[in-house]
Amino acid sequence: MADDPFENMLAQMDRAEEYADVDHGVFERLKHPERTLKVTLPVELESGEVEVFEGYRCQFDSARGPFKGGVRFHPSVSQREVEALAGWMTWKTALVDLPYGGAKGGVICEPKELTDRDLERLTRRYTEGIRRMIGPEVDVPAPDMNTNPQTMAWMMDTYSMYEGYSVPQVVTGKPLEIGGTPGRVEATGRGVSLVTERLFEYLDRELTDATVAIQGFGNVGSNAARLLDESGANVVATSDVSGAAYDPDGLDVAALGAHVDAGGLIEEYVAGDLRGSAGEGDSRWDDPDAITNAELLTLDVDVLIPAAVEGVITADNVDDLRASAIVEAANGPTTVAADKALTERDIQVVPDILANAGGVIVSYLEWVQNAQEFSWPLETVNAELERRIGTAFDETIEQYDTEGLPDLRTAAYTLALERTAKAHEYRGLFP
Ligand code: NAD
Repeated sequence: MADDPFENMLAQMDRAEEYADVDHGVFERLKHPERTLKVTLPVELESGEVEVFEGYRCQFDSARGPFKGGVRFHPSVSQREVEALAGWMTWKTALVDLPYGGAKGGVICEPKELTDRDLERLTRRYTEGIRRMIGPEVDVPAPDMNTNPQTMAWMMDTYSMYEGYSVPQVVTGKPLEIGGTPGRVEATGRGVSLVTERLFEYLDRELTDATVAIQGFGNVGSNAARLLDESGANVVATSDVSGAAYDPDGLDVAALGAHVDAGGLIEEYVAGDLRGSAGEGDSRWDDPDAITNAELLTLDVDVLIPAAVEGVITADNVDDLRASAIVEAANGPTTVAADKALTERDIQVVPDILANAGGVIVSYLEWVQNAQEFSWPLETVNAELERRIGTAFDETIEQYDTEGLPDLRTAAYTLALERTAKAHEYRGLFP
């Protein structure tokens, strides 16, 4: 079932089991989430109507520490998707060696159809729904698709109101003024850019002028685009849900960023109607072509970075892919069938649990600063991010090279599964 993200995650685990030094009984245990809470959220909208939303929080595994994982607002949210994402968080925190387990939350909604007031009410109601299972030492949410520092501020405030005092440490990805850390907003994109640089070093290839296509120009995609552009790479295509922009000579990433920050769609940018002042009249930049998201995935580029939703590289389009490397910024963008085909074609894939770990690493640094009641400068945060994601990259490569594993995903999964299984073995089975 290629389109079921949970089946996809289990299949990725199964692929790694053959090579991982993990007791089979413990391995079977790791396939089941500890718990999932489903909440019903009646919200009175600004229009006066009451709409009933459905939300989830899945706590997948806590053997290595408190649960950690984002909250997603999206129409495609489902229990299976949230459980898959919580599983991926478990392997990600283990791979980058944070003292956390994995969790994920989500609400089925179309944020574009909700006002700010509606979103605040929905966020507060969802936080009330899950508040008995979260807490600074228990489970610490963060932003994901369509949630942001403002969402985290509402969650932190709602939780704090019930506690009777401010509890910044209950969520990460907060605004700076209420305990956020510098560098969190761009952390995932920075991590994507750093692992792409590392990959090129490993492959002994030049990143300067390497062509990059990025699907999704949200928090992760836009920051990865900006930082890769600054590193000398040539971002030739990017997209959002409305469509993609493509220029083989390179896109004006700054102008695109300004356009999207002002609420514009890529489709409008390509049409030129609303192109921002940063690009307008600047003769260095050609007008980009409009292509579809499907066409973006099959461009002949050096690196393809899926940074939108899961399940976009599938058995149906994998044979048409022409990128020589893939860096998975989104969670679960490649189905297992497509993954096997990529391995056979010798296309290097930096797996999601490594490529997009920058966000959770800096979330951890925020959580540590909150516990210390102390704040670090941006340089310290960025240096620690680079050190941690660099170490995880090197460990994954070492595992891949020395154990003769088929691909980087299997290498990353064996490390993550072995670390999580070890924690279970030491802790034993309760009671
Ligand atoms: P976002 O909401 O800021 O941006 C998502 C982007 O994808 C937008 O440009 C949107 O228009 C586009 N998009 C949505 N549906 C699409 C579709 N069907 N086809 C093409 N484009 C589509 O979200 P984000 O925070 O940038 O997250 C993107 C991915 O990265 C998700 O898979 C998320 O789980 C993962 N991720 C995010 C973080 C983080 O810190 N934000 C951390 C780790 C992983």
